[in-house]
Amino acid sequence: MRAVVKTRPGVGFEVKDVEMPKKGPNDVLVRVRATGICGTDIHLYKGQAVGALPELPIPFTPGHEFSGDVVEVGEKVDGIEVGDRVSAEVVVSCGRCYYCKTGRAILCENIREIGIDIDGSYAEYVSVPSQNIHNIPSNLSYEQGALIDCLSSALRPFERINIGIMDTVAILGTGPIGLLQIQIARALGFGKIIAADVNPRRLKLAEELGAAVTINAREKNVVKEVLDVTDGLGSDVVIESAGSPVTTAQSLHICRKDGQVALMGITTEKSLIDSLLIVSKALNMFGIWDYTWLTFERSIALISSGKVDVNAIVSHKLPLEDVVKAFDLIQKGEAVKVILIP
Ligand code: ZN
Repeated sequence: MRAVVKTRPGVGFEVKDVEMPKKGPNDVLVRVRATGICGTDIHLYKGQAVGALPELPIPFTPGHEFSGDVVEVGEKVDGIEVGDRVSAEVVVSCGRCYYCKTGRAILCENIREIGIDIDGSYAEYVSVPSQNIHNIPSNLSYEQGALIDCLSSALRPFERINIGIMDTVAILGTGPIGLLQIQIARALGFGKIIAADVNPRRLKLAEELGAAVTINAREKNVVKEVLDVTDGLGSDVVIESAGSPVTTAQSLHICRKDGQVALMGITTEKSLIDSLLIVSKALNMFGIWDYTWLTFERSIALISSGKVDVNAIVSHKLPLEDVVKAFDLIQKGEAVKVILIP
């Protein structure tokens, strides 16, 4: 089959012919119909190890945002049939460690991730542990199905924070995650939605999707702008979705006293934050890592009900063979969300 492979350290991926993925007794083989490019994949493209692993397990096939059709099921798999339309959670937990045993599988000590240490979905076929599989409703397209993982990541901070009716939320970073968060905030009944980014194209989309205030961080002082539109108090909720040391530091300055800050951007650079702000403003802070089975089901419901339009963030659909072109477009800031079709 054709697949994208990270064949060596440094920048780049190759498209080549590879063996079909191996399927264990608890695995499901899926014919991939659509697969999305995630921020994590950009790190992988650049050759940066992210998340739980100290270094990349080269060679491997990336990709974890996908949907497709089940074509084979392992002999121990129950409840999933050939022909089912499915998507899957990215993190594979062990079920045996302290965190798994205490109901927090997303913090598993023996975490494996599809698209890093399990060959991923930038391929014609992907083999996935059945515990990760979710059926998708018939009114979802394959492309929408490929975006459930991305929406789940975007949704997770809203499950952690206490949501106050008509609260103000500031979203730093209007990449795919931030743009989905604007739609989620609107669906959940937030008041003023503030969005900041450095990319005018994305800020325009942010406005179209429901941000009342958009701030170009290249041209304006984000802290001053947020204080100006919140009567000098700051935002009730701040979500850092840009993954930059600058926005991480800004989050503390733009959050009001006793407000809530959710940090979810992944960065390999260290951030210098003023910890006295956390103390003196009595801030409530959350680190957001991964999402749960329930988050994934809620995301399916948000898409299926029309409350969130994931198609709105898709800027390009390209054949799998154009994977390098796709990463070029993203790195140049010309693409928002790219879907690859194997
Ligand atoms: Zn575990």
